[in-house]
Amino acid sequence: MNTAARSETVIIVGGGIVGIGCAHYLQKAGFDVTVIDRAGIGQACSHGNCGMICPSHVLPLNEPGALREGVLSLLNPSAPLRIRLQMRLDLYRWLLQFARRCTHRQMLEAGQRLLPILESSIDEYRTLFAELPAAGQWKENGLAYVFREQPSLDAFAQTDQLLSETYGITARRIESAELSAFDPALRSDLAGAYVYDHDGSVRPDRLVHDWSTLLAHNGVELVERCGLEAVRKSGNSIESLQTSNGEMKADHFVFALGAWSSKWSDALSCQLPVEPGKGYSVTMSRPEICPRHPMLFPERRIGVTPFDDGLRIGSMMEFVGWDSTIPPQRIQQLQESAAPYLVTPVGGEVHETWFGWRPMTWDSLPIIGRVPELDNAFLATGHNMLGLSMATATGRLIAELIQEHPTHINARAFSPDRF
Ligand SMILES: Cc1cc2nc3c(=O)[nH]c(=O)nc-3n(C[C@H](O)[C@H](O)[C@H](O)COP(=O)(O)OP(=O)(O)OC[C@H]3O[C@@H](n4cnc5c(N)ncnc54)[C@H](O)[C@@H]3O)c2cc1C
Repeated sequence: MNTAARSETVIIVGGGIVGIGCAHYLQKAGFDVTVIDRAGIGQACSHGNCGMICPSHVLPLNEPGALREGVLSLLNPSAPLRIRLQMRLDLYRWLLQFARRCTHRQMLEAGQRLLPILESSIDEYRTLFAELPAAGQWKENGLAYVFREQPSLDAFAQTDQLLSETYGITARRIESAELSAFDPALRSDLAGAYVYDHDGSVRPDRLVHDWSTLLAHNGVELVERCGLEAVRKSGNSIESLQTSNGEMKADHFVFALGAWSSKWSDALSCQLPVEPGKGYSVTMSRPEICPRHPMLFPERRIGVTPFDDGLRIGSMMEFVGWDSTIPPQRIQQLQESAAPYLVTPVGGEVHETWFGWRPMTWDSLPIIGRVPELDNAFLATGHNMLGLSMATATGRLIAELIQEHPTHINARAFSPDRF
């Protein structure tokens, strides 16, 4: 990467994992970087997620059947994918666009577009962790998709075949009898698993902490409790930002506002159809026999991630607006859903219950690129269920785009001008 003129400044608005990723590559390219966040760095959706960095998760939420599941959830408040009726026209527009893309063809196309950014990101993480060993408790020991019922395991065989034939993502199948040798935390009466060995995991709050500490050390200014209030434009560019800390000027601006992005559509003269997709997690002390691997239990739609100092269970996708409650029954549901898979009961000391609003786009693709009407404004948002998994390549793309360099992967499909 060439080095930008020392004097060029960038303000990144939003200090989630995506904003941090952008700061990393811009700082390395020689920009003078400031990150502002109205709360704390990494305290929103990037805090309590499942921590999986998982190219195997290339298939998007828009899959045939997702719509039916969403409609049925209107009658079932404990469904993992849930929609609540609301008086918001933009939600119904979003759902309509989402529904139109729930076809096999669109699902495969979205996967084709996501694959390069997912693969590039995990490579970039490997480079980062070579520089910052043990940051965020990084482990590259795969992701296991575990099934209780034989028919579910056999049905997943088709997905596995699709992943392998369409995207070159391969797994090893583990039969029931071999499960305990693979991971002693798994019960012996399960049907089996598919293990994607090339995925990795982190403890996301620790990663944000370790990575932002490195950035601060390298000269990036991180300003917490500094909220964006207004965007001041002059012709085709942004002149300054009005923030809770006063006016801030820079040469370039990156908006990494996660689920809050759509609130800035008018200010940036750009459609930003990003809906909050609410999910929950519970982090507990490690059970006596703790899983050694991150795991998904697709029959219950939950993820389980072991950390050095705890075990996290996370899941749910709720389109319920900006509801910030954590219903105790959702947390109980997470714990109960994991129990039939694990040898020792989960439910030790609860360290944290959490929710996060995922930045969901209706085509399942992130929004990365220049704001169509503004020369010096860029968007890095809409990372759906995979913001952690795509943060590094997103940051690299943003640095390339600001410098007007060729991009290391084709980013055309992510351009904000598609809406
Ligand atoms: C239960 C759950 C499990 C998940 N598991 C995984 C996983 O295993 N792997 C994976 O890759 N992804 C996972 N995700 C998704 C991932 O967490 C998100 O995609 C990612 O955190 C989005 O990052 P972000 O930086 O875009 O948004 P955020 O982390 O939400 O950051 C946006 C920031 O913008 C700030 N902001 C908003 N408005 C303003 C303003 N006006 N002024 C200044 N700052 C502002 C906010 O304070 C916030 O800090 C999971 C999500 C959930 C809910």
